[in-house]
Amino acid sequence: MDFNLSNEQLMLVETLRNMGKKENFRDLAIQIDATGEFPHHLMPKYASMGLVGMTLSTEYGGGGQPALDAILAIEELAKFSPMIAAPVFESNVGPVRVIDLFGTKEQKSAIIPKVCKSECSVSVCMTEPEAGSDLTSLSTNAVEDGDSYILNGRKTFITGGGAASHYMVYTRFGNISGYKGIGGILVENGTPGFSFGKQEKFLGLHGMPSCDLIFEDVRVPKKNVVIKAGEFANLMMTFDIERCGNAAMCLGVAGGAIEEAKNYAQQRHAFGRPICEFQDIQFKIVDMAMKLEAAKLLVYRAVSGAGRGLPSIYDSAVAKCYANEMVIDVTNAAMQVFGGYGYSTEFPVERMLRDGRAWCVAGGTVQMLRITMASLLFGRRFDQRKGK
Ligand SMILES: Cc1cc2nc3c(=O)[nH]c(=O)nc-3n(C[C@H](O)[C@H](O)[C@H](O)COP(=O)(O)OP(=O)(O)OC[C@H]3O[C@@H](n4cnc5c(N)ncnc54)[C@H](O)[C@@H]3O)c2cc1C
Repeated sequence: MDFNLSNEQLMLVETLRNMGKKENFRDLAIQIDATGEFPHHLMPKYASMGLVGMTLSTEYGGGGQPALDAILAIEELAKFSPMIAAPVFESNVGPVRVIDLFGTKEQKSAIIPKVCKSECSVSVCMTEPEAGSDLTSLSTNAVEDGDSYILNGRKTFITGGGAASHYMVYTRFGNISGYKGIGGILVENGTPGFSFGKQEKFLGLHGMPSCDLIFEDVRVPKKNVVIKAGEFANLMMTFDIERCGNAAMCLGVAGGAIEEAKNYAQQRHAFGRPICEFQDIQFKIVDMAMKLEAAKLLVYRAVSGAGRGLPSIYDSAVAKCYANEMVIDVTNAAMQVFGGYGYSTEFPVERMLRDGRAWCVAGGTVQMLRITMASLLFGRRFDQRKGK
């Protein structure tokens, strides 16, 4: 078991850290939170640095790097803000990976080169107003009509909603009930009958586009089917890599909060001494660091196991669940180190707590992850439906 990062990986982290300092990403994070504007200007820069699509197939313009490289980049940038890390997340661990792994040649060559140049982005569209955790009861429906499907339904909380060029829509094909009827189809922004609801207002993650998607008799060519009905397991497996990206956001936010708390504890005085000289403050920061280290090992393990493919379901569920809860504990403790100033919007830790709070719901709740883990530990499924 090798716990060392390669020289290239260490260099990548160092480069991003230096870029963040030089370009004052700390202030950019404050600005994004205050204005709610996504930092689109970073996209060309990230593309020129090879960060966009770094894990995608080289034959379609991607970097062909292992998933761990993208995870390290997401973590480093999320120390400033998840929004600053978002372009690396979307283009490497988002649904474009589904296309890279399972799409047709035509789909890959239409989408991946454009994603790598930041000219196109893909959102994942699973959740519906009446089907979140209970995803297999989704009601969005695709009905065959010649060489097309006619899509009807509504999706909710879709990250990138309104801003992305393409949408990987989880839908039921025909009347096949349960998970066997569910597959994934790619819908382009601008397709007639496809519209957006109002932008969501969240506690944190300001600047992240999110809204409902509305499909009213949308005609989608059959060639846009990426995952056929009955291959639902493939859809969920590829989602495990997105879950590792979600966990990497937590590592970053928690790492950023620890840095802020450490610096503050050395500057702030009480009883004539810097507060870092009080053992309770030291222990708090040590406990925060221990939790972060443990989460890192779990996330890196899950992603290293994936290589250029997919992580194990168990490893990614453990990693995401632990990291999701860790970031809440760590940002909450950081706020305490700041005393009253921690609760003030003049200081960054309240934002970090708000941003960190999202991940235990986005990408599947920690409760649903525990259900997955329980099923793998007991070696049997526990049907959540009453009376079945
Ligand atoms: C910031 C953010 C970004 C998101 N981005 C996307 C996106 O890009 N694409 C997308 O498709 N969705 C997205 N979502 C939606 C997210 O995936 C869902 O909110 C999540 O899966 C939970 O579904 P729900 O909100 O309907 O909650 P529900 O399923 O209604 O659950 C409510 C509560 O009940 C619990 N619960 C439900 N069933 C069980 C059970 N059997 N046992 C124990 N507890 C249970 C849940 O854990 C939760 O705490 C996003 C959400 C957020 C907050």
